[in-house]
Amino acid sequence: MTAKEAIKFIEEKGAKLVDFRFSDFLGQWQHTTVPAHEITEDIFEDGLGFDGSSIRGWQAINNSDMIMLPDPATIKMDPYTEIPTAYMICNIFDPISKERYTKDPRNIAAKAIKYLQSTGIADTAFFGPEAEFFIFDNIQYDTTKNSSYYVVDTEEGNWNTGAEGHNLGYKIRPKEGYFPVPPLDSLFNLRNEMVMTMEEQGLYIENSHHEVASGGQCEIDMRFNDMISMADDLQTFKYIVKNTACKYGKSATFMPKPLFEDNGSGMHVHQSLWKDGQPLFAGEEYAGMSEMALYYIGGIIKHAHTIAAFTNPTTNSYKRLVPGFEAPVSLAYSSRNRSASLRIPMYSPSPKAKRVEVRFPDPMANPYLAFTVMMMAGLDGIQNKIDPGEPMDKNLYDLDPIELSSIPQMPSSLEQAINALEKDHDFLLKGDVFTEDVIASWVEWKRDEISGLNSRPHPYEFFMYYDN
Ligand code: GLN
Ligand code: MG
Ligand code: MG
Ligand code: MG
Repeated sequence: MTAKEAIKFIEEKGAKLVDFRFSDFLGQWQHTTVPAHEITEDIFEDGLGFDGSSIRGWQAINNSDMIMLPDPATIKMDPYTEIPTAYMICNIFDPISKERYTKDPRNIAAKAIKYLQSTGIADTAFFGPEAEFFIFDNIQYDTTKNSSYYVVDTEEGNWNTGAEGHNLGYKIRPKEGYFPVPPLDSLFNLRNEMVMTMEEQGLYIENSHHEVASGGQCEIDMRFNDMISMADDLQTFKYIVKNTACKYGKSATFMPKPLFEDNGSGMHVHQSLWKDGQPLFAGEEYAGMSEMALYYIGGIIKHAHTIAAFTNPTTNSYKRLVPGFEAPVSLAYSSRNRSASLRIPMYSPSPKAKRVEVRFPDPMANPYLAFTVMMMAGLDGIQNKIDPGEPMDKNLYDLDPIELSSIPQMPSSLEQAINALEKDHDFLLKGDVFTEDVIASWVEWKRDEISGLNSRPHPYEFFMYYDN
């Protein structure tokens, strides 16, 4: 859609307001709203000014003026506003240099695609994320800085019975949420409303279901799309999940491990490279893969610790990456094995469906950055013919210590991942996709999160130590 067509869309839909949105560094959508009469062709060229110093990890206060420029191709109607409101996703510009902003995640992803095309290896990268999330009835926490207190109510509500209060007769046992029918699946109606809203917003949904964890864990899967469209779509997806939950007095979280001793939320990411409309990952090697796909896997395994700084970007992320909860710990690949970090799905014999499923990412990731770092690592693997080693078709949770010591492992903390990012990031700087300012800001922000957590008394410390 062009600027002219977007203006026509606003008129036809009767939008009174237009919301400008962009993803901040950490992946949260930010927004500002203008009346529809402000949307002329000029605004698509001049953009809208805002204060970049109030956005997490971005500009210094003495350098705070930034511009957001709406991308007319992304225009949609917001499904939740009382007054008809359209919204567009924006790109961020520096008002002085007129260049796109180095720390705008959408710009980083755009540069990654340009770089991919410049290598001649492929012209398109497809991504299909499976973002899992929890719906909670109630969460209370003290947001003051000294807090060490929170309560999560994991009771699932009564979507299907319509009865008042909680239906205690139908409660999913831990790790048995995959996937009995209602009334055990009490989130059926809520999820269906999410799915229909997503489809109305132009997302193509393939499947949705309750997930394994008992406390209201869900998954909704979108059909794959090219990198930037998929990252845009995932932001819309999260917006719909959270706002639909909110509409019914519940809250949704993409936090990777909200519940101890139950499954966490992952975001498996299916990915493949294409050139001239042809898939490049199908071939005669292991599990019907091409040599290129194997090298792509080699690159992901080699740089996994750096990748994790973006795909598993929170201190909580590493509480999910432990054995026994379908989340990967070992950096191995396999065609069937869900305990491996990389899986090659075998459902479909079609070469077009041949892809690599990277299983370690979680849905806290900023999709623009997460997709970019995985693709850059995979490309590094292809360019340098990085050997992924032998496939691992056995249960990696059950290996003896000697076998285990020969298989590389995921980092066990955010600190390890951030240390790796500091040391190993040359592959991200190719084509100026990432720049040193971006890496430095990410490291600084994440080190603050780590020390912020480590310096606070934890509720479990009271359990262990208070009365000793
Ligand atoms: N929740 C699991 C994870 O943390 C995945 C479960 C599944 O989709 N099979 O990755
Ligand atoms: Mg799935
Ligand atoms: Mg799943
Ligand atoms: Mg999966």
